[in-house]
Parts: sequence; C-alpha cells; structure tokens
Amino acid sequence: MNTETGNLYRKMGICDAVYAFGEEILSGLTERFSKIDETAEYNQLKVLNAMQEAKVSEACLLGTTGYGYGDIGRDTLEQVYAKIFHTEDALVRPQITCGTHALALALMSNLRPGDELLSPVGKPYDTLEEVIGIRPSKGSLKEYGISYRQVELLADGNFDYEAIGRAVSEKTKLVTIQRSKGYQTRPTFSVEKIGELIAFIKNIRPDIICMVDNCYGEFVEKMEPSDVRADMVVGSLIKNPGGGLAPIGGYIAGRKECVENAAYRLTSPGLGKEVGASLGVLGSFYQGLFLAPNVTAGALKGAIFAANIYEKLGYRVIPNSTESRHDIIQAVEFQNKEAVIAFCKGIQAAAPVDGFVDPQPWAMPGYDSEVIMAAGAFVSGSSIELSADAPIKPPFAVYFQGGLTWHHAKFGILKTVQSLKESGILSDKL
Ligand SMILES: *Cc1c(COP(=O)(O)O)cnc(C)c1O
Repeated sequence: MNTETGNLYRKMGICDAVYAFGEEILSGLTERFSKIDETAEYNQLKVLNAMQEAKVSEACLLGTTGYGYGDIGRDTLEQVYAKIFHTEDALVRPQITCGTHALALALMSNLRPGDELLSPVGKPYDTLEEVIGIRPSKGSLKEYGISYRQVELLADGNFDYEAIGRAVSEKTKLVTIQRSKGYQTRPTFSVEKIGELIAFIKNIRPDIICMVDNCYGEFVEKMEPSDVRADMVVGSLIKNPGGGLAPIGGYIAGRKECVENAAYRLTSPGLGKEVGASLGVLGSFYQGLFLAPNVTAGALKGAIFAANIYEKLGYRVIPNSTESRHDIIQAVEFQNKEAVIAFCKGIQAAAPVDGFVDPQPWAMPGYDSEVIMAAGAFVSGSSIELSADAPIKPPFAVYFQGGLTWHHAKFGILKTVQSLKESGILSDKL
C-alpha cells in the first residue's frame, strides 16, 4: 500500500496485510453500498422536504428558557418529525432524557389501571423489564395495576400468530413491538414485517394501540413503522435521528391522541406540549436530524463491512454477511474471551475522544457477568458513534454499532482486526 491514504493507515497502526484484507473485502461490497446510498438519498430528501414544508427559519434554531411558552423552534421541530414519520403529531424534547424514558413515557401515558400490555415479539429490551415490572421496580406499570403478557417468537424468529391471537383479550390496550433485536440473537424485523403484525392485531381489534420501539431503526429503510399503521413510533436522539449532534433527547411520533397523552404525562395535566423550554439544543436537533440519513448510512456500511470481515475470518456474525439490514447493530460471536477484549480495545483505539484509554471488563451493576465497553464519543453514551460492548460470558459475542462517518467506522473495524492479530488470535488467518 503505497498510496497517501495507505501510508497514513500504516502510521496509525494498520499493517499492510490488514489493510489489504480490508480492501479485498470492500471490493465485494460495491453493490450493497450503492443500495445504502440510494436509501440515504431518498431519506435526505424526505428530511429536507419536511424542513422546507414546515418553514424552518433561523429563529427556529434559537432557544427559550423558563416555561418555554410559544417556543417556535420546538413546535416547528415537532411538525418536522410528524412530516417525516407521516404522523398526526410528535413530541421531541430534551426533557425526554433517553430512549428508555421515551418508551416508558409512551407506555405510562397511554395505559390506565386495569389495562394489559402485550409484547408479541418476546422479551423486550433489558431496561424495559423494570418499566413494565417484569423485574420488580419502583414506579413500574405493574405497581399501577397494568398487567403484561408476552408471546415468544417461533424458533425460526417468526411471529407466533396463533399464540398472539389467543393472547389478545378484552383487556389488551397496547401492543409493543421492538424493531431492533437489541442485544438478543433474534432477527431484527423489517418495516414490512412489522406492518403484517400490526395488520393482524388491528384485524382482531382496530382500537388496540400499536407502538413500535424504533431505536436503531430510523432511516435504515425508506419506510418507517408509522407508514405501516403503527400508532406510535418511539426512539432516542442519541441514536440514529440525532445524527450524532443531539446531546440528549427522545421522540414520540404518532396519532394525535397518543402524543397528547404523552405530553400531559411528560409535563403536567393541563400543560402538555405548551411548556418545556428548549434551552440551547435546538440547533443541534435540527442539524443532527438533517445529517441523520447519511450518518445512519455510514453506520450501516460499517456494520456490513464488519460482518463480511469477521465471517471471512471464520466467526459467526449476526446478521450474516449477505442478509438485508433493518437496524445498525452488528454482533460477532468469538467464543473466546481474549478475542472479545481485543476487539473492544481496537474500537477504543480508533476513537476521536479517549482513544488512549484501555477498556477493561468490570462488574457493572445490573448485569450477571462482567461487561466490557468501548466508546470514545463526543456525546457521552451516544451509540450512533462508533461503540462496542460485550458481556464476558459464552458465546462471547460483541455487539457494536455506529460511526458518525463511514470512513471512521472502516478505520475502527480495521483497528479491531489489527488488535486481534497483535494478540495472536488470528495467527493462521492473517
Ligand atoms: C437503546 C435502546 C433502548 C433504550 O434506550 P436508552 O437510550 O439506552 O435508554 C430501548 N430499546 C432498544 C431496542 C434500544 O436499542
């Protein structure tokens, strides 16, 4: 590798063999990458069109303080989200502190004592177990007399329609559908597939509220779950739709009544959407949303690049090298503790912030094994930025995601390969 770029890779610790291996893998990905670019182009236009139709002005980028009455930037941004998701309304606030908070808010505001919540897609994301009360927790839905039912997926990852049909009762008020696999090994659902499930539920009782946990899924496809009749889509702004610039926040887009319920719960009965100062974050919300389709595309390319690299090196990757993508998460099963640690060290060494830090496994509260995490992000905890984490237990799988630009994701993945090689783990392969 004698090009200028190759030289810089070498200077930054990527040896010729690893670089050449990466280039070889990349040469087979041209067609897939151009499909991703095509989706990003569509979504870029969708976002731009929404901003223009909502008449975003310079004044929208400023913020308010105190009560935040008449915050034109906040109100306009919510219109922009509603246009993008093709919903009646949206709630997009820095006062929604994270994805879990957005989901908890959507659930708690739309369910009442005596109602039942149903998950027809198996176990929800870890943090929701306490929201629901699957694991006892202060303030859970269970404490408020809201019951919960869950239908497991079939062994092949498909919906168990028969069991779902039986699980829907008079009490069923809301159905929650998690799009991304999160940190499980089941498949992530396409929007089309989510649409089939929603149609099935609506066919039993059209008044059941269908909510989709959209975390990590935004802008991966041209359609969003709200285009296939979801009543609410919910997510975090320090993932895809914040484009890496939003420093905090969550969103709920959906039917007017659902969003209104959430707003009255977030602030107060009687106040709803009318209060909530945006402080100084609106500029980053708008600009991050504007960049989000391309940021998501970069993260997606990184995930596919990694899947192809590690599959070629002989590891099980989920999704595999050729599967279609519906979120930005990539898992690699190493079956080996040292490999997991080496991978995370590689991701950390590629970070623009804290790149000099050496990540170590530690006993994190709430987990039943040690966990190792790698992240060096501009926004703390942001997982649209290049990041990885892994519980130190069989099958020794690493979950990684993000990358604000494709070229950073590429560098990070090459760094992981280099790190594994230097730990002697790839001895016969590279
Ligand atoms: C990240 C995530 C959440 C929770 O979001 P936080 O911002 O970490 O609270 C919920 N569901 C899914 C599928 C996620 O990926």
